[in-house]
Order: sequence, then structure tokens, then C-alpha cells
Amino acid sequence: MRRKIVAGNWKMNLTFQEAEELIEEILELLDEENAPAEVVVCPPYPYLELATDYSEEGMIKVGAQNISPFDSGAYTGEVSASMLKSMGVSYCIIGHSERRKYFNEDDKMLTAKVNQALKHGIRPIFCVGESLPEREAGRHFEVVRSHVRHGLFHLDTDEFHKVIIAYEPVWAIGTGATATPEQAEEMHSYIRTLITERYGEEIAEATIILYGGSCNSSNASEIFIKKGVDGGLIGGASLKADEFVSICRKA
Ligand code: PEP
Repeated sequence: MRRKIVAGNWKMNLTFQEAEELIEEILELLDEENAPAEVVVCPPYPYLELATDYSEEGMIKVGAQNISPFDSGAYTGEVSASMLKSMGVSYCIIGHSERRKYFNEDDKMLTAKVNQALKHGIRPIFCVGESLPEREAGRHFEVVRSHVRHGLFHLDTDEFHKVIIAYEPVWAIGTGATATPEQAEEMHSYIRTLITERYGEEIAEATIILYGGSCNSSNASEIFIKKGVDGGLIGGASLKADEFVSICRKA
């Protein structure tokens, strides 16, 4: 049975004080009722230590939003996988459409980031998903296949086993236009077929695939209930503790 995961991608939001308040509120709400899902918060880099300190209570895990493709050394501004690991970071979002778009992260770069994460014991949350023109042109399967193959299929079975995939249609991110539960189910099933072809059924059945894109407490249940949807990667709705915890409870 696959573990359900709900991860909050805070993106570039909140002051340090607001971040602390948000984590405290999340923990208080989770305390009231044991969340069935693994709850992950992915704050900006400067707040990671704050989050990993709170994670010692065992209620949440911490993810980073980015990771260097390099090991160590003269790469000004970069943060390495070993640094993140040494702070208690467990996950890292890689391949998010905002990084593909605004920071020109291509397959080669993403592969290097995935490799770094795995080398240092950090589980990638690897994002894949088509844009609106791609979906309208009927190219969504082709695009997602390319993201999955080029980003992940160089991994051996043991490495791949640690990867979490997030299907995030770009047209649904931050737009309020969630994929229908049927669209999510269809794409999750397609991704699992690709994994079966490459790694076999056992690995495919064990792979956690999250949905992301305008997921909130009102629509989470109908998406999470679909076969093959193992939880969510949540952007905007992860910035409000009650909303986020309510989504976690639906996973
Ligand atoms: C995201 O950016 O990963 C995301 C899912 O954002 P939102 O929930 O705001 O659409």
C-alpha cells in the first residue's frame, strides 16, 4: 500500500515571522487529529532550519524547493544536496514548471539535480505536466512522457524507487482551474504505465504519484479519491494552516 503524501510548496512567500506562525498553526491543527498522510512543508531556503527544528516533533517532514546540480565548491548562491541533508531536509521539489520556465531548467539540469538529491538521501518530488496549448493540441501524454523519461528513466531501480512524481498540469497551477478528477486519474494511470514498461509492475505500483494544481480543501477529496492519486503538491492553499491541514486530512 502506497503512503499518502501532502506537500506544501510555499514558493517565494512569507516573512520569517509568518513562516514560524504558519508552522506552529499547522502543528497545532495536526496535533488535534493524527493526519493519515505524510505531511511535508517546503519553505524557502532561509526558513528550512526553522522547519526542520519543528519537524523534530515528528508531525511534519521538510522539503526544499530547489537543489544544486553540483556537489560542492565555487558555485556562488547554490545550496547543495549534502547541505540540505545535514539540516534534516527529507524531500526536494525538482522540475517544477516555474523553474523550467523562469530559470530555464532543462532535462540535463533536472537530471543532475535528481542525481544529487538521491546521492545524498533526499527524495525528489519530480514535477511533470503539460501547458495549456500542449493539452489543447492533444500533446499532454507526449509531454508528460518526455518529462518522465528524460528526467527519471536513467535511474536504476533502487534509485527510482525513492522518487515521488507530481503531475502538475501547468494550466492548473495557481489559476483556480483544477484538472478534473478524471483528467488526473487518466494521467496518473498513464504515468504508471510508463513506469511499468521501464521498471516493471511492482515498482510502478509502489511509486507515489501526487496531483498538483489549484488543489484546495473543497476539491481535494474528489481528486484524492481517484485510483492512482496518492496525495497532492499544494501551492497557494498551503499558505493557510487550516486549509492545508484540511487538505492533508482528505488524503
Ligand atoms: C504548485 O505550484 O506546485 C501548485 C500546485 O500551486 P497551486 O496549488 O497554487 O496551483
